[in-house]
Amino acid sequence: MSRTQVLKDRSMVLQKEMIARHFARLEQAPERHEPVVYTFVPGNLTELIRSFDALPVLPEINALQSGMRKLSGDYIAEAERSGHSEDVCAYVKCDIGMAKAGNIGPAGTKLPKPDLLLLSYTGCYTFMKWFELLREEYDCPAVFFHVPYQGDGALEPEHREYMIRQLREQVIPALERVTGRAYDEDRLRQNLALSALAEDDLVAVLQSAKRKPSPIDGYFGTVYYVGPMFSAFRGTEEGVEYYRALREEVEARADAGLGPIVPDGSLDEQRYRLVVEGPPSWTHFRDFWKMFTDEKAVVVASTYTKVGGTYDFGFRHDPRDPLGTLADYCSGCYTNLNLPSRVEMIARYIREYEADGFVINSIKSCNSFSAGQLMILREVEKRSGVPGAFIESDLVDPRYFSQANIKNRLESYFQMIESRRRGAAAGGGGAAA
Ligand code: SF4
Repeated sequence: MSRTQVLKDRSMVLQKEMIARHFARLEQAPERHEPVVYTFVPGNLTELIRSFDALPVLPEINALQSGMRKLSGDYIAEAERSGHSEDVCAYVKCDIGMAKAGNIGPAGTKLPKPDLLLLSYTGCYTFMKWFELLREEYDCPAVFFHVPYQGDGALEPEHREYMIRQLREQVIPALERVTGRAYDEDRLRQNLALSALAEDDLVAVLQSAKRKPSPIDGYFGTVYYVGPMFSAFRGTEEGVEYYRALREEVEARADAGLGPIVPDGSLDEQRYRLVVEGPPSWTHFRDFWKMFTDEKAVVVASTYTKVGGTYDFGFRHDPRDPLGTLADYCSGCYTNLNLPSRVEMIARYIREYEADGFVINSIKSCNSFSAGQLMILREVEKRSGVPGAFIESDLVDPRYFSQANIKNRLESYFQMIESRRRGAAAGGGGAAA
């Protein structure tokens, strides 16, 4: 077995083990009297939650895992039977359906009830409605942390102060009440220092996609890589160990001139380099990925892998300013960015990663991502000069994945890139996007 293979296996094994340990601990939490805090991915305050020895649960992660395991269709049907409309975010219905079916989580173990719902509000109104439903379901306390939307494309100093005040006056007291522990700022600083170490390694992994061939897939492969960072493991020793192992593995692949591991092996020969906007379809994740790899297309960067932090643009959790850094982090999550910032981000990825094009996957039930995507398509094409493709599917509702439509659209898109290339080689402008 090659060195690369050994390293690859190590990071995957580490991730599998840490997730299994976390879910086992969650299952035992009620009898061990360990407090449990439910929270969302964008703007999650994992370092703070863990500084109180509480365990985080991320309902979005449970929903997407249910999608990958083909369980979400039944959960959504269950939620619709109890009155939730077809248009409601499929993550919400999947989560509600899972709770009604016994709350067995993605690891096959029972999830504990929340002791606290910690809602960091980062741009999606559905987050509020979702936790209102869970508050009713579990009859537990909830605390609302309002993150002002970056309407003008930047975090204003008074908004930062407003967030720090909420952390001090509302979030921390709520955590103190449910855990019975006092706020320990030194502990929080230690966790934040661990986060920054892992974030450095994650960024090295993300930016390895600038190499040719890219040793990673910046969307399909990277959703696995960002999993620990975006969920329960930021600010932990396990998280640091995982990202160190992953970085070593990716650097070894890059040094060996190898592409990423994809559903059919290693994608070393890469014909198209793409940027992707929008979440993937979890119910058909592998089929969707194969539509790209069959055409030898590799994704070099994506916006969805920044919902839990835009570390590649320089942000790191800073232990010297514990509450300020949490405010900065929450404000910079992708869902909290306005449309011009999103356009700029995609155009920048296309430039810096030398992409041939970009694909927008518009998600039927996610307004937070889908609103404005047609404007994004036009603006990014105008700015970057590369063509975009627009496809539609859903997160975890299997009824909205039309395999043939998406495949056709992607195939014509790749043909169009080819014809532009031929046109450029012949000295002409090629087909219009
Ligand atoms: S609408 Fe989109 S961003 Fe909001 S909770 Fe649902 S999936 Fe998440």
